[in-house]
Amino acid sequence: MSDLPEVAHLMRLAVLGISASVIYIYIRRFTGRVAARLLDWTPTSRRERLLMTIIATLLTIVAVFLAVHFYVYSGLDYQPDIYRTGNPKTNQVALTFDDGPSQEFTPFVLDVLREYNAPATFFLVGVHVERCPDIARRIAEEGHEIGNHTYRHVTMPTASNKTLYEEVIKATRVITQVTGEYPKYIRPPRGVYDARFRRLSHVLGQKIVLWTISTRDWRYGTSTQAIVKRAVSQAKGGDIILFHDSGALIRNEGGDRSATVRALPLVIEGLRQKGLEIVPLGELLEEEFGEEFPVVEIPE
Ligand SMILES: [Zn+2]
Repeated sequence: MSDLPEVAHLMRLAVLGISASVIYIYIRRFTGRVAARLLDWTPTSRRERLLMTIIATLLTIVAVFLAVHFYVYSGLDYQPDIYRTGNPKTNQVALTFDDGPSQEFTPFVLDVLREYNAPATFFLVGVHVERCPDIARRIAEEGHEIGNHTYRHVTMPTASNKTLYEEVIKATRVITQVTGEYPKYIRPPRGVYDARFRRLSHVLGQKIVLWTISTRDWRYGTSTQAIVKRAVSQAKGGDIILFHDSGALIRNEGGDRSATVRALPLVIEGLRQKGLEIVPLGELLEEEFGEEFPVVEIPE
């Protein structure tokens, strides 16, 4: 690959940095005005100016977080290629597990799924598949669906073209070779994607699938009850529920998923008690589009 795309990559990073700076400058100015008007406070001393800087920085972080959240859960434009939910008119939900396989936790997750006869979809990380090929094979052998979660769990929008292609294609190759199954689905790490990722996924025939409910089981010290509550209390037909069978907050390995393993039987029972049927993603997304397609009449 030529050097040119790498220049484009640097420019992309520069645009991101400049955007964040512009947001920061505007928030700082805005908070300054609000403070002056409502609180009758204009920072004059060095300490007060520092306080103002801290407030503006925190608000900028919140603003960026909300923007990313909206982008992940709703999208900024028409995106029929991205599956965020199944059909809400059915009573079906799907369970999905990211970041594995892990030697420590995935076998227990599989045991629970087998005991309850519940299908799931595993979005696998390429390097983890190489590290635990037996567990990856077991996932496929026990009838669960397989998705691509990139080779090293790299954030897609900030990756160079070369890295983005390598991550997606290398993971596809490893997953297919080890499990014997071509990944039908793909989920970008952290749920963030861009136009390059969407186009490449389309070319590879892998549907981009996000989620509607995050159990936030990646959080340090999260409890079994919290996971069960998040997964069950809000659940409704069409939901795609996100768990992790590996991964820490920043790194894609390590992390303690024992709470997830303990929560899983209670989640399955809770969902079934609510009259919801746990189905594979393939069934949940059958005849479903990311966003509704217009009816197009093609002239003969
Ligand atoms: Zn992940």
